[in-house]
Amino acid sequence: MGKIYLLLLLVLLVTTAFLLFTVFFHDKETTVREDNNPEDSIGNPEEVKSPDAESDNGFIAPLDGVRERASKKKFGMYITPQNSPVQPERFTGYHTGVDFEIFPEELNKEVAVYAICSGKLLLKQFGSGYGGYAVQACELDGEPITVTYGHLKPPSIHAGIGEALIAGGVIGILGAHQSAETDGERKHLHLGIHIGTAINSRGYVGSESEILQWIDPCLYVCGFSE
Ligand SMILES: [Zn+2]
Repeated sequence: MGKIYLLLLLVLLVTTAFLLFTVFFHDKETTVREDNNPEDSIGNPEEVKSPDAESDNGFIAPLDGVRERASKKKFGMYITPQNSPVQPERFTGYHTGVDFEIFPEELNKEVAVYAICSGKLLLKQFGSGYGGYAVQACELDGEPITVTYGHLKPPSIHAGIGEALIAGGVIGILGAHQSAETDGERKHLHLGIHIGTAINSRGYVGSESEILQWIDPCLYVCGFSE
């Protein structure tokens, strides 16, 4: 009889040890996954952001912490060298996109910019007023749009022309503050959404009728407190 009890005790001990072992390793695995730092995703276009940054129609914020960021120039503002919140100012006209400012600690750090929607890369090049910029083709409520990401570091835009970008995948990183990469502008992201398939990356237009060809990105990807 004594032997049977001993055997049962042994079985019980082995089972308990096995369960503890399983639980411990399961926990460890979960912790590792949660520890995944978003900064690891810089330069990795395969990395996709968590869906909690997603808007109702599947669009995703172009930067981390977008709700806490300021915007010196919002969509549709009429900018002149005299009234501009950014000094000195060289532009005049209605702002066709929204500017996302960096946090002070990001001045000398790599700041990843995410594709706000899924669609092909149409263009990546240097342009006056932008430095590096990229244009992507997407759809918004079934209608074609093009998205301009202004002031990017050109070599950081890894995707080739025609390559599909996934919403939330890294499209590039912000260009260095007041450098050729930003055409001398402060380090920030200019995001513009133009209606239709034609590429139009103008940052400012001269009339209110022209601004009707653009959509306020903040309707979809900002979450700014006004
Ligand atoms: Zn801008």
